[in-house]
Amino acid sequence: MTTEAANIVTCAQFLKLNQRYSRQVMAARYPPQMRAKMAEKRNSRMMTPLSDWRVSDIITLLFNKVKVFMDRLILHIDMNSYFATVEQQANSRLRGRPVAVLGSKAKRTIIVASSIEAKRLGIKTGYALHEAIKICPNLVIVHGEPRKYADVTRRFIDIFESYTDKVEIFSIDEAFLDITSTAQIYGGAISVAKEIKSRIRNEIGSWISCSIGLGPNKFLAKTGSDLEKPDGLIIIDKTNKDQILLHLPLEDYCGIGRAIFRRLEGLGVTETKALRTIPIAKLKQEFGVICAWKLKQMVNGLDPSPVIPWREQKAAKSFSCSRTLNKDVTNKKEMRTQILFLFEKVAKKLRDDGYWAKEVGLWLRFKDFSGYGKSMKIGYWSCDGLDFYNYTMKIFDQVQIRQPVRAIGVFVGSVQLNKNVPLSFLADDANKEKILKVCDEINNRFGDGTVTRGKIINSRLKEIVSGMGRKKF
Ligand SMILES: [Mg+2]
Repeated sequence: MTTEAANIVTCAQFLKLNQRYSRQVMAARYPPQMRAKMAEKRNSRMMTPLSDWRVSDIITLLFNKVKVFMDRLILHIDMNSYFATVEQQANSRLRGRPVAVLGSKAKRTIIVASSIEAKRLGIKTGYALHEAIKICPNLVIVHGEPRKYADVTRRFIDIFESYTDKVEIFSIDEAFLDITSTAQIYGGAISVAKEIKSRIRNEIGSWISCSIGLGPNKFLAKTGSDLEKPDGLIIIDKTNKDQILLHLPLEDYCGIGRAIFRRLEGLGVTETKALRTIPIAKLKQEFGVICAWKLKQMVNGLDPSPVIPWREQKAAKSFSCSRTLNKDVTNKKEMRTQILFLFEKVAKKLRDDGYWAKEVGLWLRFKDFSGYGKSMKIGYWSCDGLDFYNYTMKIFDQVQIRQPVRAIGVFVGSVQLNKNVPLSFLADDANKEKILKVCDEINNRFGDGTVTRGKIINSRLKEIVSGMGRKKF
């Protein structure tokens, strides 16, 4: 290899270090024409031997990379006690009272949102209804109406989009806004945050409030919005970042769940300072390279991930459905029926949205709230609930049911729009497809369950409860 060729390779390697990240940032920051021009410039630079680079080129390149970490203005907006405050807004008699919104009308359903007044009494999301009533016998119970909440979400997203086109929907009541290039038009980032708060009150409802975090990246913005509830506005920048993070319990980091925290505890890490100082090699050993780096970045307040506008977010990657059973179940036959029921629901949703899947998964929650979960690939693309069920039985038959099961969930993953599925990988059963299509048409016209599998009709547990989810990752 000649010296010149070696230099070219060195330049390419140097740029490659940042290439993947840059692509994400570029896509989020610049219009396509500008991106093409920049790519052209970058490619010509890559072909320049390193010896021909001017010092100023290298400094500019490094500065641009560092700038991305430093100069962004990200808002994270989290609606407070969302479903409950929407209900209180809609019905003035609920205002000022402890309200719990339920997932369904069944007896063993859980609370999916509690009002600010109920939270003050200690009633949290995920509590069983009977537990909540024990704490507050005067609790006002409301049955949730997902369509109503989705409609309100649409309205507050419209408000956010009047400040920037970079609005990433994080969940039904949370969003990230990148206002780096637009904040100045509205008098700065803090003005934007205050204006959004007042517009939500004026245009959506005086009872609806949100907590906002303002930070140089998504992680710090999210951390800020979690610090003060309800109706908070917390700004995190380089002056207070360390002070806040050093006092933040590790369990409160967005991204450190109970399982990761336990594993960190195993390494002797229970607080931010310890996670900052532990050698990365130890973390890599325990969590793998990607997770170890993420933890290190997080604990130092870094997060290079861009805000991806919701209109550009990728389509669904998996569909799921779960149910808390009417009563704890020990009989495997009954569980199989529930699993088939859930897969039928997921498969119907999959077909309605025009997807196929080739991965199935199952999780069980036991009486003591411990859990079991596993997934597996299937050999072909399918959108048939019975196919998914049959494969999942390979997982289910290996599970040892040591205690009664309280809830069951299923999911299908590796999904693909049906127009993109190669025909040669489809299950070879045209008749089955026709039958499913006819059943769907009947059920769409006369209601879900008009035509269904006999095994489900005869189930003693056919009345099951809780909500259906379609996950977007
Ligand atoms: Mg919220």
